[in-house]
Amino acid sequence: MSELRADRGTCIGAGMCVMTDSAVFDQDGDGIVVLLEEDPEVDEKVRAAVDACPSGALSISED
Ligand code: SF4
Repeated sequence: MSELRADRGTCIGAGMCVMTDSAVFDQDGDGIVVLLEEDPEVDEKVRAAVDACPSGALSISED
């Protein structure tokens, strides 16, 4: 199973994830990433968002 992780301490608020998949990612008032679902399906768009993140805040763990 693939699990998306978002490290809010590492996020720099670039917003690439939200632009790539606004169904899964949002930003709080400080621009820091928020996941709209607790355990979203890791599909191609989510993987594209992880690849687009410039800070390395997003990762996918494959169990
Ligand atoms: S793309 Fe990365 S750095 Fe930018 S808001 Fe999303 S998680 Fe944060």
